[in-house]
Amino acid sequence: MTREAPAAADEGALLRTHRSDIDRAEAAIHELIDALGFDPDAAELAATPARVARTLIQATLGGYERDPQEILSATFRGPYRDLVLVTDIFFVSMCPHHLLPFSGHAHLAYLPRDRVVGLGRVTDLVQAFACRFQFQEKLTQELADAMMDHLQPFGAACRIEATHYCERVAHEERAPSLVITEAVRGRFADDPESGDRFRRALADRRGRS
Ligand SMILES: [Zn+2]
Repeated sequence: MTREAPAAADEGALLRTHRSDIDRAEAAIHELIDALGFDPDAAELAATPARVARTLIQATLGGYERDPQEILSATFRGPYRDLVLVTDIFFVSMCPHHLLPFSGHAHLAYLPRDRVVGLGRVTDLVQAFACRFQFQEKLTQELADAMMDHLQPFGAACRIEATHYCERVAHEERAPSLVITEAVRGRFADDPESGDRFRRALADRRGRS
């Protein structure tokens, strides 16, 4: 079975083809289990290659099938021009260096020019970029840039707080518990007051929770 993603999806530097071959992935995982010294045909492991292949393809590649422009097209016009902040959007993404997940929360903000987007679409946008081979830094920038490109707001901002399991597994004692990245665009970058407001609004909601 092969799965094909539309050409409209972001290619990314790492994506070589829009096809992923689940049968080959399954065979490779069978081989990996064998290479690690386990019996891939033992009853407990017999279904593992298929399960892992499916999970990996969904977790790492599902986002390539989503078109950010289409996701952010569900807008409605309105006079609202003040801060919109959507916080604590949980995501799981995949580190291409270790093939291990990192996960955490994304906080997205924008200053609408004349259109606001459905809040569920903001969540969808995070999943579309997270379900890829990703680096947290790149994910943060892509989310801010996608809002700028497709909503044309006065400004867009993204902050991500995540835990990297590869770091935990490989360097347990010196692994950072939380990695924070931030990308600010438009007015959030140009006007220090707007940037501060975004950070204050995030801090305020923490104080209340
Ligand atoms: Zn890693």
